[in-house]
Amino acid sequence: MFTLPELPYTKTALEPFLSQETLTYHHDKHFNAYVEKLNSLIAGTEYEKLPLAEIIRKSAAEGSKGIFNNAGQVYNHDFYFKCFGRQADDTCPLKHAKLKELIEASFAGSDDFRTKATDAAVGNFGSGWTWLVEENGKIEILNYSNADNPLRDRPNAVPLLCIDVWEHAYYIDYRNDRKKYVTELLANVNWAFVASQLG
Ligand code: MN
Repeated sequence: MFTLPELPYTKTALEPFLSQETLTYHHDKHFNAYVEKLNSLIAGTEYEKLPLAEIIRKSAAEGSKGIFNNAGQVYNHDFYFKCFGRQADDTCPLKHAKLKELIEASFAGSDDFRTKATDAAVGNFGSGWTWLVEENGKIEILNYSNADNPLRDRPNAVPLLCIDVWEHAYYIDYRNDRKKYVTELLANVNWAFVASQLG
């Protein structure tokens, strides 16, 4: 059985770019609903004792869409909330040596990186997730729909950062302005967390 992870910061910690109201709905209502639904779907099945990543891969391979969707949303939301709540001086990924090396190997600098990540998230049609992953010394920006994520199709990639582009992630604070939401999100990334994913 899975439990709803606590947010790694208070519900007002991300204001003004994400309000207490957004975090209350997004974490306590939406994220919690995915946890509860996943638990109800796997109870008494062969999935029950598996780690989350294995549930995602097994349900994808077996076409168990309900389990896949809810397991994917649990993984995605847990990762998403950890990506923010940065330290005040942690404003640039280039401050972290490994990220600097990867960004410079993959993009024409950090502005190009931000622009491409923003454009991908804004252009991700419908509800879904934009992921940044590292593989073979390069950062890639990947768009996924619904609950999908790189655990399913990129087993050798290291997940670094995800952006929730479901409307429930931003509609209270930004209405339909997904670009402003994504821009603010990328200005408030916990780059120390992202860098820590590289080991
Ligand atoms: Mn969400």
